[in-house]
Amino acid sequence: MNVVLLGPPGAGKGTQAEMLANARGMVQLSTGDMLRAAKDSGTEMGQRVAEVMARGELVTDEIVVGLIEEKLKTTKANGFIFDGFPRTVAQADALLALLDRNGQRLDAAIEIQVDDAALVARILGRAEQARAAGKPVRADDNEESLKLRLAEYTAKTAPLTRYFQDKGLLKTVNGMGSISDIAADLLQATKTAVA
Ligand code: AMP
Repeated sequence: MNVVLLGPPGAGKGTQAEMLANARGMVQLSTGDMLRAAKDSGTEMGQRVAEVMARGELVTDEIVVGLIEEKLKTTKANGFIFDGFPRTVAQADALLALLDRNGQRLDAAIEIQVDDAALVARILGRAEQARAAGKPVRADDNEESLKLRLAEYTAKTAPLTRYFQDKGLLKTVNGMGSISDIAADLLQATKTAVA
């Protein structure tokens, strides 16, 4: 089973992708995590994307599709949960083509729906918690970058809802409940995805 998690920044995709991966024995593929790892390890690509990410803009399709292609080639899994990928229609087309080439398919794209007003509070709250605990704060978890991240989402990623709906792959869950309620809904949604 292969599943895409859709939703704006702050919807809880990372947390939920990890829980769902553990519950279903799948592998979480987060392009955001891969890009942050590239930045932290100081690779040439990591250095190139660091500023773009900190500003809250999307990095190029070519870079993220390359990262996903590499992971699909080198990871054996019982299914993938794509977290933060695809973020553009071109990335979605590339993902479907890559899966097809590997004899696989996408079973569902699940959108975590949240109120716009909750997003800013959640993200700034995440930064505040990290700061209070003495942990590193994401370079893009500030008000200015967040504005750009939301604008990028609206312009480039939100159209994917329609894209997957047209392919009969879209499901939605309410992302305004507790973490465990949302996790339960996602488990249910992935049950019916393969039925
Ligand atoms: P995330 O951890 O998913 O919130 O991603 C953090 C940042 O990494 C984004 O704001 C983008 O700058 C970059 N990024 C992550 N995934 C993608 C993607 N699929 N396409 C373009 N940029 C991405």
